[in-house]
Amino acid sequence: MKLVIGHLYPRLMNMYADRGNVICLEQRCRWRGIDVEVRSLSPGPLHNAAELDLLLVGGGQDREQLLASRDLVETKGPVLRDAMRDGLVALAVCGGYQLFGEYYRDHTGVELRGIEVLPAHTAHPGEGTQRCIGNIVTTWKGRKLVGFENHGGRTYLHDTAAALATVENGFGNNGEDRTEGAQWRNVYGTYLHGSLLPKNPAFADHLILQALQRRHGAALLPPLDDAVEASAHERALKIAGR
Ligand code: GLN
Repeated sequence: MKLVIGHLYPRLMNMYADRGNVICLEQRCRWRGIDVEVRSLSPGPLHNAAELDLLLVGGGQDREQLLASRDLVETKGPVLRDAMRDGLVALAVCGGYQLFGEYYRDHTGVELRGIEVLPAHTAHPGEGTQRCIGNIVTTWKGRKLVGFENHGGRTYLHDTAAALATVENGFGNNGEDRTEGAQWRNVYGTYLHGSLLPKNPAFADHLILQALQRRHGAALLPPLDDAVEASAHERALKIAGR
């Protein structure tokens, strides 16, 4: 079996080592004998979106987000939206997550358009306001997810049922409603950097399995020896005081 991973804006949206999510998925496939191709998707027209099985985008500063927003709205948005409507599995982190919603209004009040696949919008409360920074623990499908967050924008879901997880420790979407992230079909947005997937192997495998089921009708994913990942996960939980 083979999976094709699209890495969106690898040079633009690469804060806090979110590239580790791509490496994690690639490795967890290869360790199982699944062939993987990683395609870097830089600004410009996107061809063959239907060949993608997994799409990942990381976080970025406001300036890089502006460039990414322009490219999404002017070129890639419509084809990516169609692919995600067709079940493409996607993980968007922080600034990337914000651009998968309706818009991100930055600290100067400038509104960056998003591609509107996630039912949410984000607004930065303005220069000099507290940033949402620190270790974060959430609960997703009864499991703990651990990571690190650093964002000024506050994200508000248009339907709180679309939340990816519930905040146990940290800010999450906005520090008010205990929601973290958002999801729609196989599209997931989150504020958890870390990078997220190496410390949360169950979530990584959830994404891989969804992609395999969509492309190959696979039902099972053989387990891996996750002793190292589990100890990193436990250490992160302890650091976050959970
Ligand atoms: N610039 C956005 C914010 O501050 C996203 C930051 C990020 O991607 N870490 O909310």
